[in-house]
Amino acid sequence: MQLVIENLTKTYSGGVRALDSVSLSIPIGMYGLLGPNGAGKSTLMRTIATLQDPDSGNVMLGDLDVLADKMKVRQLLGYLPQEFGVYPKTSARAMLDHIAILKGITNRGERRDRVEAMLNRVNLSQHARKSISSFSGGMKQRFGIAQALIGDPQLLIVDEPTAGLDPGERNRFYNLLSEVGENIIVILSTHIVQDVKELCTQMAIIHQGTVRFAGAPADAEASLSGHIWQKSVSKPELEELRSQLQVISTKLVAGRPLVHVLSETEPGDGFESVPPDLEDVFFSSIQPDAPSAV
Ligand code: ADP
Repeated sequence: MQLVIENLTKTYSGGVRALDSVSLSIPIGMYGLLGPNGAGKSTLMRTIATLQDPDSGNVMLGDLDVLADKMKVRQLLGYLPQEFGVYPKTSARAMLDHIAILKGITNRGERRDRVEAMLNRVNLSQHARKSISSFSGGMKQRFGIAQALIGDPQLLIVDEPTAGLDPGERNRFYNLLSEVGENIIVILSTHIVQDVKELCTQMAIIHQGTVRFAGAPADAEASLSGHIWQKSVSKPELEELRSQLQVISTKLVAGRPLVHVLSETEPGDGFESVPPDLEDVFFSSIQPDAPSAV
């Protein structure tokens, strides 16, 4: 089974082209969709989740036409939206039971077994009687995954799931997702490079509605091999460098800017060549004049 997206285009009524001829092939496993805020990720996720229509293009899940057979797709889909909405005062167990009914699990005994197994899987069994509104951010996200998985989906979409989680919660969430991604298609939409680095075997970078890279993270890094240069500079020097070179990122190390520059040749003057990492790929792909992959 593969999810194949072809030439999806969407322009909102205000004139923003959120998707511009997006084509991707997404296999079973964890697929990272990486892009800055406003790139078009949620628009793409909502389109695949059958919640909105594109202006043009096709989406196929195996031999199912996603845009035409919405009801069939919904039976195969688990979705954790960016804004999961209001967190009810209902207990986690009662809410999951309710969602299981909506997913068509009508046999009471089977439903109870599935709900308990799912609560256990997301490590919420001991909190099952507490109201979801009282949960921490990480617990809410784990509940979000439980509600997305209770119908046994073939396709799981999670939109910006780690934003706002502390490092411990984020790690627990990563472990949970990586288990799920072994057997089904999981699309993880995120602006956090670390999410993709830690979890995904395949990825795409999307910016201003277009695909800038699609492939394996290691291939993305290899594509910049020999082109990333690093130097520790003073703050006034940094301003000067920006006008001369393609500075793709700066971070402070002990209060001093460490710059990464994209250049085919040695930029000279104290720069050292460094192996590219995924952040370099991401930041160079979203430069104003970066080429589109397709
Ligand atoms: P991301 O999820 O990557 O942050 P979105 O898909 O939410 O990106 O947004 C892509 C672009 O489309 C942004 O410029 C955003 O402001 C715009 N946009 C998103 N939803 C709407 C909408 N309902 N109406 C008008 N513009 C929208």
